Amino acid sequence: MEIVQRILTANPCYKSGRTITVKGLMLHSVGCPQPSAEVFIKNYSNPASKVCVHAFIDADTGVVYQTLPWNHRGWHGGGSANNTHIGVEMCEPSCIKYTGGAKFTCSDREKALANVKKAYDAAVELFAHLCKEFQLNPLEDGVIVSHKEGHDRGIASGHADPDHLWNGLDCGYTMTGFRQDVANAMERQ
Ligand SMILES: [Zn+2]
Repeated sequence: MEIVQRILTANPCYKSGRTITVKGLMLHSVGCPQPSAEVFIKNYSNPASKVCVHAFIDADTGVVYQTLPWNHRGWHGGGSANNTHIGVEMCEPSCIKYTGGAKFTCSDREKALANVKKAYDAAVELFAHLCKEFQLNPLEDGVIVSHKEGHDRGIASGHADPDHLWNGLDCGYTMTGFRQDVANAMERQ
């Protein structure tokens, strides 16, 4: 896993300078057909930005771009999760097209699956690394959650990511499987 430091020093979230005690990790996906992390880094460098996450995972390369110090309070969950959880965005395939809300069509399923796998595998490695760094148990309730699960638990805003992406492509990934994959990766690391 390659982690490239691209701290978003122009983002008002970075400038607010608040830190947290990390108690968990929240997995997101960007919700638009853009595989390039660089594009988001450019957008989030806007001094008027109202959102900021700790990292983006490029869906073409699997490279992790760290955009906030891990113990910085991010603006990613739209709820109290920001006080406890690191937020990581997976970029999404360019061959999907959103048709309303979390629904989308896909023009090239093979390519979409390759992008989704690239981001998923890198997310597993990153989350395993962060669980070790912050001494978190990936299988403990509420430690690793998706944005959707965060919403279901009342700690995040009403988004469906990334579960909607995996379900929409019927690719077999689930958050339960993700947590187990992170636990397995910790054994290997
Ligand atoms: Zn999200």
